[in-house]
Amino acid sequence: MATTTAYILLGSNLGNRIAFIHAAINEIEKQCGQLIAASSIYETEAWGVEQQPPYLNQVIAITTSLLPEQLMQTLLDIELQLGRKRTKRFAERTIDLDILLINNLIIYTSLLTVPHPAMQQRKFVLLPLQEIAPQIIHPLTQLSITEMLQACTDTLRVEKIENHT
Ligand code: ADP
Ligand code: MG
Repeated sequence: MATTTAYILLGSNLGNRIAFIHAAINEIEKQCGQLIAASSIYETEAWGVEQQPPYLNQVIAITTSLLPEQLMQTLLDIELQLGRKRTKRFAERTIDLDILLINNLIIYTSLLTVPHPAMQQRKFVLLPLQEIAPQIIHPLTQLSITEMLQACTDTLRVEKIENHT
């Protein structure tokens, strides 16, 4: 089976955020495929609701032989394994794993929308993604990630965390 490259956004705003991000990457390497790139970790203001602790966010690239829906299901299982509880929309969470891009595929199913529909509006997605994949072309906008970041008007605070080991 041909391998594919997937870009995944990790987010945590509950508990030991760094530990959840590291644990998720570990599980992704075990269950999904090989890690080929990782951005810095960024601290970002919570999006969608006020009065929530800030997030840590990181974008990684993996190669995988899983089909897109298998990848999504495996990531949802890892979220549960790491203690995520699904409550209200935008609720705080130990770990959130979102698929941003899979090759240049366009997918609309009940389980999975790719490219991630909100990625162009969110600086906390585009900034780390630009660090590891500035030149790739978004299959719907036909813009590079750098161009999408330049066009993004999101004003929420997104700061690179320098020492996070
Ligand atoms: P959000 O990430 O928007 O805060 P959730 O993590 O609770 O929301 O995800 C809700 C649902 O979104 C999941 O059950 C998943 O099947 C669906 N979904 C659709 N497309 C994607 C995608 N590209 N990445 C992650 N989840 C997705
Ligand atoms: Mg999610």
